[in-house]
Amino acid sequence: MLNSEKNHSRYSRQILLQEIGKEGQVILQNKKVAIVGVGALGTVASELLARAGVGSLILIDRDTVEESNLQRQTLFDEKSVGKNKASAAEQRIKEINSDIKVEFHSIHLTPQNIDVLQSADLILDCTDNLQTRFLINDYCKKEIKPWIYAAAIKTSGYVMPIFPDGTCLQCFLSESSQETCDTVGVLNTITVSIASLQATLALKILLGKEVESVLHHYDIWNQSFKKLHIKKKENCQTCAGNYSHLQRKETSKYVRFCSTGKYQVLGPRVDLSEIKERWEKLGTVTRDNSSLQFQNITLFDDGRALINAQSVEEAEAIYSRLVGN
Ligand SMILES: [Zn+2]
Repeated sequence: MLNSEKNHSRYSRQILLQEIGKEGQVILQNKKVAIVGVGALGTVASELLARAGVGSLILIDRDTVEESNLQRQTLFDEKSVGKNKASAAEQRIKEINSDIKVEFHSIHLTPQNIDVLQSADLILDCTDNLQTRFLINDYCKKEIKPWIYAAAIKTSGYVMPIFPDGTCLQCFLSESSQETCDTVGVLNTITVSIASLQATLALKILLGKEVESVLHHYDIWNQSFKKLHIKKKENCQTCAGNYSHLQRKETSKYVRFCSTGKYQVLGPRVDLSEIKERWEKLGTVTRDNSSLQFQNITLFDDGRALINAQSVEEAEAIYSRLVGN
């Protein structure tokens, strides 16, 4: 049953669609989707699913909002700059649809914490890096969950629904497809289009409709749309049940993210209130529900820190001065 008459009117335009209908709307209300990465793709996909009445969303992001994100990350505005993305996105989604459940995690997804995805019916890859994508790929294969790969760069992008028994990401991408650390541009219309295609496929999967596991490629500048059929790779490690990405350990304490140039420090759990008091003697500190921000550093309650620095030495110096060793 739909929750109430109010819900019936809220989703009336969707219920009128024969592809969804009243029954479909009830199905969506009882589904949970995890969105990994709430940036260019994740802000659009999560907003569309929230507006469509998908009952529960899990939002995951490790980063904070920057001014350069505002060109395409549609859940954020000028007031969001500096805030932690997962938390800012959760607040905005709740304003858009207060009927659905939203949880957020300001974490760097690793084999140690990936169980936050456990309760999701479907996982959307809205990340910007291959390392996390391979982790999701292994996890979903092992846990028998569907997920949707998506990526956009410059004026084009890819989307591919990946099912437990079919072709996986490792069948056609390898670790040697290394990303460069060069910053490249991206058109906001392509990120919105790719996320919109990803959200459409998500709705179809949630509704139990037939969805082909093909790699969609769209170049919006040249209006070219292609579907590529990809076969399972014969000696694919993931398909063979060797989940090497789930066994990975973070080896270095300081990691530079290519996408933003920030350094991530994996430190021990901290008492944010105590550190806030300490930092306030030095200047203005901003706090939201799971992080503190001061000068060039954002510190999360699980001990993780993000630091804007030019070198690893500078990042180390900032960390030891403001947090400790
Ligand atoms: Zn495979």
